[in-house]
Amino acid sequence: MAEAVVEEKNFCSSCDRDIAIITDSVLFNCPNCGSKISRCGNCRGRGVTYTCRVCGFVGP
Ligand SMILES: [Zn+2]
Ligand SMILES: [Zn+2]
Repeated sequence: MAEAVVEEKNFCSSCDRDIAIITDSVLFNCPNCGSKISRCGNCRGRGVTYTCRVCGFVGP
């Protein structure tokens, strides 16, 4: 049995899609608590708000 490789996947904070398959996606830190937030290119283009899953910060 091969050992499973743990791949960290990042899902968009707004639409929950895998950002690895969407261009222009970004990873950044929450301005409020510094937690990692991912946002896909689709939501960036539409100006959809994101919500930090740790502190609840909502930002543009
Ligand atoms: Zn998205
Ligand atoms: Zn936060």
